[in-house]
Amino acid sequence: MRPIFIPRLVNGPFGDPGLYVDFKFEKRALLFDAGDLAALPPKKLLRISDVFVSHTHMDHFVGFDRLLRICLGREVGMRLYGPEGFIDRVEHKLAAYTWNLVENYPGDLVIETWEVDPGWNARGARFRCHRRFQREPLEGRCAPDGVMLDEPAFRVRAAFLDHDTPCLAFSVEEKTHVNVWKNALAELGLPVGPWLKELKRAAVQGAPDDTPVRASWRDRDGAHERTFALGELKARVLRLVAGAKLCYVTDVVYSEDNARRIAELTADADHLFIECVFLDEDADHAARKFHLTARQAGSIARAARARLVVPFHFSPRYAEREAALRDELEAAWRSFSQ
Ligand SMILES: [Zn+2]
Ligand SMILES: [Zn+2]
Repeated sequence: MRPIFIPRLVNGPFGDPGLYVDFKFEKRALLFDAGDLAALPPKKLLRISDVFVSHTHMDHFVGFDRLLRICLGREVGMRLYGPEGFIDRVEHKLAAYTWNLVENYPGDLVIETWEVDPGWNARGARFRCHRRFQREPLEGRCAPDGVMLDEPAFRVRAAFLDHDTPCLAFSVEEKTHVNVWKNALAELGLPVGPWLKELKRAAVQGAPDDTPVRASWRDRDGAHERTFALGELKARVLRLVAGAKLCYVTDVVYSEDNARRIAELTADADHLFIECVFLDEDADHAARKFHLTARQAGSIARAARARLVVPFHFSPRYAEREAALRDELEAAWRSFSQ
C-alpha cells in the first residue's frame, strides 16, 4: 500500500478534536473539525481545501475564526461541509464582523459551504470576501450514499450519527492505484502512451478479463496497433494496489443504530480515529452526555476490523488516568480479534 495521505490529530487527546489530513504529493490538506486550531501554523492552514465539520458544538467549530483570519485577503477557495443548519452557522459567524473595506483586498477568499440532510440532499451557499461575505445560494445537489467529495484519487463519505443533534462521521477512501511496469511493457514491445489510460480505467472498473484492449501508437515506421485481452495485460504489466481508508468518528452516543452506521462507514479501515471520552465505569454519564466510552469505542473498532486505532477527545476528568482510557480501548478492540 502506498497511501497518499498523512493524517494527524490537530491536538493532544485532551484538546479539541480535529484531524489534519495532509496530501503527500500535493500542497493540499483536508481538515476534519475546526476546534482549537492554534497548533496549526499559517502555512498548514493555507493548504486546507476542504473542511468537514461533524457538528457545530464549540469544540468542533471555534477554530473557523482562525482559519478565516489567516486566509482573509488571499486568493483562496475553500469548501466547508456540515449537517443541516450549517450554512446558517457559517453565515452567523461571518456576520459577526464588519466588512466595509474588504472589496479591495488583493485576494478574494471564496468560501463554498454545503450542508446535507439525512436523505443526502445537499444545499450550498457561497460567501465571497469581495462581496462582503453576503450569502449567495448555490444550486442544490445530491450526495449519493453520503459521498460528499468524489475526486479521481479519493472520495470522502459521511454517515449521520445521533449526538442529541445530528453529527457526521467521515471516511476518506483512496481509490485503487494502478502501477504500470515499464520493463514488462518493453518486453512485449509496447510503448507507453495514451492507450494506457484506457487499460488502467478498465482494470480499476473491474472489467472482465476477456475485454479487448487496443494498444495503438505511432513511430517512425508509421501507425501500429495490437489488441490484447485485459487479463493478460493485468497479469503481465499492471499492478493494482488497494487504496487506504481512514475514518474519523466523534461525538456520538452508543446505541445499536449508531454502532451499525459506524460499522458500515468504517468497515476495514486502515486507520480509525475515534473518540474515547469516558471510561466504562462512567458509562451512564457517557450516555447522558451522548458520548462513547473507551470500551464502546474499542468494540466499534473491533466490529470495523480496523487495523490501527487512534483515540482522542478524552474528558479532562481523566487527566491523571490517560493510560486507563487507552488500555480500555485496546482491550475491547483486541478482545475477539485474534
Ligand atoms: Zn459535541
Ligand atoms: Zn466534542
